[in-house]
Amino acid sequence: MLFDKFQDMIAFRGQLAAQGVKPFGAVTEEIHSATEGVVEGREVILAGTNNYLGLSWDPRCIEASREAAARWGTGTTGSRVANGSFAGHQALESEIADFYGVPHGIVFSTGYAATMGMCSTLAGPGDVILLDGDSHASIYAGVRLSGAEIIRFKHNNPEDLAKRLRRLGERVDNTLIIVEGIYSMLGDVAPLAEFAAVKREYGGSLFIDEAHSMGVLGETGRGAAQAAGIEADVDFIAGTFSKSLGGIGGFCVSPHAELEAIRFCINAYIFTASSAPSVIASTREALRIIRSEPQLRQRLWDNAQRLYDGLAGLGLRVGPSVSPVVAVVLEDRDATLACWQALLDAGVYVNMVVPPASPSTYCLLRNSVSAAHTTGQIDTMIAAYASLKDRGLLPAYSGA
Ligand code: PMP
Repeated sequence: MLFDKFQDMIAFRGQLAAQGVKPFGAVTEEIHSATEGVVEGREVILAGTNNYLGLSWDPRCIEASREAAARWGTGTTGSRVANGSFAGHQALESEIADFYGVPHGIVFSTGYAATMGMCSTLAGPGDVILLDGDSHASIYAGVRLSGAEIIRFKHNNPEDLAKRLRRLGERVDNTLIIVEGIYSMLGDVAPLAEFAAVKREYGGSLFIDEAHSMGVLGETGRGAAQAAGIEADVDFIAGTFSKSLGGIGGFCVSPHAELEAIRFCINAYIFTASSAPSVIASTREALRIIRSEPQLRQRLWDNAQRLYDGLAGLGLRVGPSVSPVVAVVLEDRDATLACWQALLDAGVYVNMVVPPASPSTYCLLRNSVSAAHTTGQIDTMIAAYASLKDRGLLPAYSGA
């Protein structure tokens, strides 16, 4: 029957309710700053927000948002192709393209719509999509809709990409290669210099989702492609306004003039209402701050290094490279649940990730660092993990 396929989820929810643990959809009852709030009745450090630069609480962004709501209203009540293209949307498109040093940009209502919309539209029947096996759900949603032939290559593995491109022969001209900058679960950075070299050798068009790397990596914060020095090899960069920019929305930029026509072929652009003017205004201000205050990025990386070193120093299995996403890898779902709850009880609110949301069979306690965290808050997070370990709650990783 229709609901049979949901029985596992119904049973898991029942187990969580019986244990009194609420890792998915715990309610933030109050929020005091980019790094502090009240969650499920407890004063906590917010340690799983993706608020990499803390800009959701920047007074300048808040003021820009307030001012725009007063001047333009609370919503556009329509799609970009109907009544929903306001001056702010167009200005943000120019500003984001200018930030990336390319002529063309599209703004979407969410990051999910940006990646899903672009990936479902750029390639179609008769084309090929080569994507990293650990790609985000929005990328998978898009490529499945595209009608293109879908081939996965091994995560962050340029040799595997090269092998598969080689096999395509002349079809490479119709091939879209999709990778991310920083992967959201383990915080690992893609080897973009190597991927770009493979693209130069075999061909194809390169699409990079910089959702977690924009504002975080690169000399001016453009992301992993900038950090790797390969922007000239990139055909499309997509990203989100919901992480380092502290708002909501998404974008795609490109050196290709065709992007202007492509936008009118993207259902996720055409058939959804455009972002609220207040969100556009705060995002524009946040982008201005990213461009003018590189010290925020430095603070973010100092904090990331401190947390990574602290957790690795406890002997925990963390991601392969230092990054603002610091994930602790565990094998057992029940142990992960218990740790997540114990961290919350200790005043540290992190993300819990279990399969199928995590890329493999493992579970994660996913911490994300912000430039707005104080050194003291980072140390409190490390101390909370140390206490879990002392109490025998945090099992040692077997290395399997
Ligand atoms: N791409 C990646 C890699 C992401 O991690 C996310 C969000 N987690 C998105 C796209 C979607 O962005 P948003 O949540 O802003 O819609």
